[in-house]
Amino acid sequence: MARVIVIGGGAAGLAAAIEAAGQGDETVLLERMERVGKKLLATGNGRCNLMNTGAWRYPGGGDYAAETLSRCGAEEQRRFWEGLGLRLRQEADGRVYPASGQASTVLDVLRLAMERRRVTVHTGATVEELCPCRGGFAVKTGDRRLTAERVILAGGGCAQPKLGSDGSCYGLLKALGHTVTAPAPCLTPILTETGPLRGLAGIRVKCQVQAEDGGRVLHRESGEALFTDYGLSGVCVMQCARWAREGGSLTLNLLPALGLPDGEALRETLLVRRREWREQPLEQLLTGLCVPRLAAGLCAAAGITWKNRAVTSLTDKECSALVGAVSGWRLHVRGVKGFDAAQVTKGGARPGEFDPASGESRLISGLHAAGEVLDVDGDCGGFNLMFAFGSGILAGRNGR
Ligand SMILES: Cc1cc2nc3c(=O)[nH]c(=O)nc-3n(C[C@H](O)[C@H](O)[C@H](O)COP(=O)(O)OP(=O)(O)OC[C@H]3O[C@@H](n4cnc5c(N)ncnc54)[C@H](O)[C@@H]3O)c2cc1C
Repeated sequence: MARVIVIGGGAAGLAAAIEAAGQGDETVLLERMERVGKKLLATGNGRCNLMNTGAWRYPGGGDYAAETLSRCGAEEQRRFWEGLGLRLRQEADGRVYPASGQASTVLDVLRLAMERRRVTVHTGATVEELCPCRGGFAVKTGDRRLTAERVILAGGGCAQPKLGSDGSCYGLLKALGHTVTAPAPCLTPILTETGPLRGLAGIRVKCQVQAEDGGRVLHRESGEALFTDYGLSGVCVMQCARWAREGGSLTLNLLPALGLPDGEALRETLLVRRREWREQPLEQLLTGLCVPRLAAGLCAAAGITWKNRAVTSLTDKECSALVGAVSGWRLHVRGVKGFDAAQVTKGGARPGEFDPASGESRLISGLHAAGEVLDVDGDCGGFNLMFAFGSGILAGRNGR
């Protein structure tokens, strides 16, 4: 029986502690917040999208994530959850949630398992120092000094520090000689010029989004976007955030929002309306295709002024400009929202310095890393929790 200290009571740390204790190791979990699993409760809008059964989507650290998930992917994790008594439900696009629809149910089974396996939990315990000592490691938290043969570092990244992860574990790893890539907010809303978006905040649209820089397309996503008073949010926008740069641009194709397959279909619709709707006010041109506020924004983007004008007055040039604005509305990027709004951190401990089979450091034996503290980040859809739980389970098992 070894003594194991797990640093961090998030997804990765809770899974690691349960598995380590399940192997018979004497396990102590140290969490800096007043209770464990705070972030878990906020995930998936309170529903906790805990994994995904589809193809793995990890724009950051994809090789390491694949190595981890080939050992502990959806099937193995399903067994883990069933073993803890959690019922699961699969929804669209391979997303898996607790059947209860409540993130708290996930935390309940994790806490119960820790209790049953006699994991000692200290909350309000920020680990300030971690250093090798004879027979293992010494860990300092407040006035307490603990020792263990193995340490599993699962302190997360920097995303949403109010939920616990404040980046403090990077310093612990650096002090032990590990390389840490500078952290940056990821899966976060994008700040754009706001003038063209005036009046649009709160409107959700189905669209395609492209992040561009100097005319070069860096990334493309489709899905739902949300107009805000600072720029754009929504899953497909947040998934573009890692490519969004100040000085670059975001181009929106809003044809899907108008229910049209392509620009020609829009042009045809506009020309029919010009013929048939003749004396109707021009501001009604997009009625039935989108809400009036969006219609106003699109016409403004196309340079169309509609005061005291009838539909029949729409020129061919304006018609083309409107097709261009709907299918390729370009907005200048001013940056991305910071860690307070980000769901995930890009950057962190270099995965190549750890063995994916157990998360054990290749530099210091007995030291493991799991979850978001590593430089691995996935798309929305359950991929980040799936990596956190998978890597936590493997670290807890320690290759056994
Ligand atoms: C609002 C929101 C919604 C999300 N929704 C989803 C979703 O539905 N599906 C999905 O897959 N992903 C989602 N994510 C991402 C996902 O939650 C994270 O990737 C995942 O929780 C990372 O797990 P982790 O255990 O590595 O880190 P964390 O969950 O961040 O846990 C780290 C823990 O370590 C503690 N800690 C940090 N430093 C120390 C220290 N020095 N000493 C002691 N304790 C320390 C922290 O307090 C924290 O409790 C969401 C994220 C957010 C913010």
